[in-house]
Amino acid sequence: MKILVVGGGIAGFAVARALELKGFAPDLVERRLEDAPGGMGLYMPGNVARALAQLGVLEAVRDMAAPILTQSILDHRGQPLSVTQTQALWGDCGPCLSLPRNALQAILRGSLRHTHARFGVSVTKIRQATQSCEVAFSDDTTATYDLVIGADGVDSTVRSLIFPGAVPTSVGTVCWRFITPNTTGINGWTAMLGQGRTLLAIPVSAEHVYVYADLTLVDGEAKEDIKTTPLEGLFNDFAAPVFSLIANVPKDTPVHFGSIEQVVMDAWYLDRVVLIGDAAHASSPSMAEGAGMAIEDALVLAECIKTSERVDAALHAYVARRRPRVDWVQKQCVARDKMRALSPLVRNAILRLLGNRLYTRSYTPLLAPL
Ligand SMILES: Cc1cc2nc3c(=O)[nH]c(=O)nc-3n(C[C@H](O)[C@H](O)[C@H](O)COP(=O)(O)OP(=O)(O)OC[C@H]3O[C@@H](n4cnc5c(N)ncnc54)[C@H](O)[C@@H]3O)c2cc1C
Repeated sequence: MKILVVGGGIAGFAVARALELKGFAPDLVERRLEDAPGGMGLYMPGNVARALAQLGVLEAVRDMAAPILTQSILDHRGQPLSVTQTQALWGDCGPCLSLPRNALQAILRGSLRHTHARFGVSVTKIRQATQSCEVAFSDDTTATYDLVIGADGVDSTVRSLIFPGAVPTSVGTVCWRFITPNTTGINGWTAMLGQGRTLLAIPVSAEHVYVYADLTLVDGEAKEDIKTTPLEGLFNDFAAPVFSLIANVPKDTPVHFGSIEQVVMDAWYLDRVVLIGDAAHASSPSMAEGAGMAIEDALVLAECIKTSERVDAALHAYVARRRPRVDWVQKQCVARDKMRALSPLVRNAILRLLGNRLYTRSYTPLLAPL
């Protein structure tokens, strides 16, 4: 079967790898010429480790990643609200891990043996025929495929060509991300909650920590105005241990700023084109399951393609297996974002009383096998 994967991010490399393990040799196009940008981290709960093991790359990832044994939530002054021992839930499913995002992408990319990848190339047109797709590329080439997999992220070109009405929507939050020396001894997932703002720090190696800061825009507030406001000033009522990381960011540290968007769609495929990862179902990062859902999509799609006699049956089976899990994650992200937006008094009381139970409730369904 001739398969095109559009996008060389986590979903694209993962599905190419999963297809190779099933005996396929897909084409892949990635519009970036260079490797994925540095400066961002990725936290992955235990189900992601299990999926990485199925791709045969878990050991390589563990070598690069920091194990995350606790998730601590503090108020903005640094008073503890809840501490969760992550392995009490994940157990044999897999460790919770955190690493620079570009390290994961490099491992996935480096695992490919039979994929024909082209970089600096984008898809410009897709024309569906009865049993195939004709695809035009930005380098003026064209090719015909039995199946096109759109793994091209939240702003997916494939989605906009096939489902023009399905557009990402903002969840009303802007965020900053960077990796910096771990000068404050952060040794687990550590979130600090203020009013309409969150600071989060997670070790990504023995020396470095990934910092994430977010802020909910109030009515009429412009993203661009916020972007130019010094981060330190926006969080100056926060305390140790995370505030000093944003107050002392070394010069020349790449800081990524953006708004958080979600994609909610009824259908993930049409004829010979299917979407996976953020292209199909981007969410707010509140569950840290974006990479996990993308890699699980990849494994399930490759298995459905291998075991189904027809492409439409494979795509139907893929959606039937993935939908409940992805819907659960998307709904949990919305619920968690709503809880963070409650008045601090109420929210902090809920977290003191129920923090561990809420963690268990959110993640237990993801222990089930794919
Ligand atoms: C602020 C923030 C924090 C997050 N934190 C976490 C976290 O801690 N843990 C976690 O699991 N998830 C996290 N996520 C979510 C996670 O980043 C995504 O779910 C994940 O990157 C999705 O992978 P993807 O491959 O679908 O998309 P992407 O990673 O966006 O990759 C898409 C790729 O497609 C390429 N592309 C785009 N258009 C084209 C085209 N037309 N032709 C060819 N190539 C194209 C892009 O260049 C890119 O390389 C976070 C998200 C945000 C916004």
